[in-house]
Amino acid sequence: MIFHDPLTGLPNRGLIQDRLTLALAASAGSGLLGALFWINIKNFRALNISEGHETGDQILMQLSARLCSVARDSDMVARLWGDEFLILLEALGSNAAEATHNARLMGERLRNAMLTPMDLHTYHYACSLRIGVSLFQAPDKVADVFRRAALALQETATQEADSLCFFDPLMQSQHEQRNTLLAELTKAVLWQQFCIYYQPQVDYREQVVGVEALIRWQHPLHGLVPPNTFIPLAEEADLILPIGLWVLRTACVQLKLWEQKPLCSQLQVSVNVSVRQFQQPAFVAQVQAALLDSGAKPELLKLELTESLMLENLDDVVGKMQQIRRLGVRFSLDDFGTGYSSLAHLANLPIDQLKIDRSFVHNIPGKSSDEIITRTIIAMGRGLGMEVIAEGVETEAQHAFLANNGCNVYQGYLFGRPVSPDVLEALLLQAQRQLALAPSAQE
Ligand code: C2E
Ligand code: MG
Ligand code: MG
Repeated sequence: MIFHDPLTGLPNRGLIQDRLTLALAASAGSGLLGALFWINIKNFRALNISEGHETGDQILMQLSARLCSVARDSDMVARLWGDEFLILLEALGSNAAEATHNARLMGERLRNAMLTPMDLHTYHYACSLRIGVSLFQAPDKVADVFRRAALALQETATQEADSLCFFDPLMQSQHEQRNTLLAELTKAVLWQQFCIYYQPQVDYREQVVGVEALIRWQHPLHGLVPPNTFIPLAEEADLILPIGLWVLRTACVQLKLWEQKPLCSQLQVSVNVSVRQFQQPAFVAQVQAALLDSGAKPELLKLELTESLMLENLDDVVGKMQQIRRLGVRFSLDDFGTGYSSLAHLANLPIDQLKIDRSFVHNIPGKSSDEIITRTIIAMGRGLGMEVIAEGVETEAQHAFLANNGCNVYQGYLFGRPVSPDVLEALLLQAQRQLALAPSAQE
């Protein structure tokens, strides 16, 4: 019992670790390489919850039998915990290429063994595996072999099911970089090393009517870090929740400050909201509190959501959007055209603005498919009573194409880059002075 898993009767972690120690010692003598397979079941946790633990146990027992049927007599199959299994294969080859080839053959045999669905009495279950593989050879250390197999397994998360992934040293360095960035980002949240830049949005008269709040990380060594380097990681690690809240609150404070300055008092401020952030039960209350605490006018705040939100529980999304809409806040649908919007759903959401993704704007005029998509988005948005804004407008030709097709609000380098609030105020002042000096104003 000390060395075996009670459910499947397989060796447990302690036993396979001992075996790996012996295998490494044998490899020192023979010079042969072996492999450690780390295996788990795709979506097992969800299945265990939805179907119950008894079904989960049946699956684990059947999987254990199938793994054993594929393994050679000299291999060891073990169960770590939950749906995590290991197979230790010794003497796979005298060099990495040969060992890799033989490990792949084993992977094929495992895949074949899973082709027949499992009979679970009530239904048939097609079980998909994820497999991480680390080759090993003396003088590797047991802990390193385990860690490398686990990293390889993690890598399969981004691939399709039934995938087998070998550890490669690049994974290690990427993993380390990711961990360093994550540690730094955690500190950045604690010490609030962020600031917000604001990028102008102009109307058909080229007057600034709004700004988009874009976060920057003021890194103590690397200077201003753009959001694409850290927002995806922040989303994975849930740090997006405190970061997103900070942006929301800071943008509201800025709105209130601008209320006192005539040139800025009418500016709409758009704030990007991540799906995870929106999904929080307390999100509506957070928006309300940010408005109340700052005293900002709700009608000047716009929240930018992305289409991926529509893949979530739509009733919940619509309900929350309506509550926020009742506060007076508006909504924009960011990066439109790149996601998976159901057009039928689009009409049911309280959205005020569609934002054409800059990947389409980039290719107009010229690329006919993007011209057609852009025209269609504009027509659809207007037809549904929404304002349509184009992002990433960089050239006069793009501007003209958009204007000729009925898109009247623009954001992009042609009209201004994201800048700090001070610089934005200075730019607005400068623009006003130029306007006053223009011949038509002097007449
Ligand atoms: P986004 O919301 O689509 O923001 C527009 C991005 O396009 C900004 O990049 C902006 O600087 C860039 N851009 C604007 N005009 C042009 C142009 O003419 N040409 C080109 N090539 N690019 C232009 P930025 O500031 O690097 O932000 C990137 C993304 O990071 C944003 O894309 C948004 O998805 C995310 N992000 C930024 N701030 C926040 C935030 O506070 N919260 C969340 N959740 N995401 C944020
Ligand atoms: Mg945006
Ligand atoms: Mg965008």
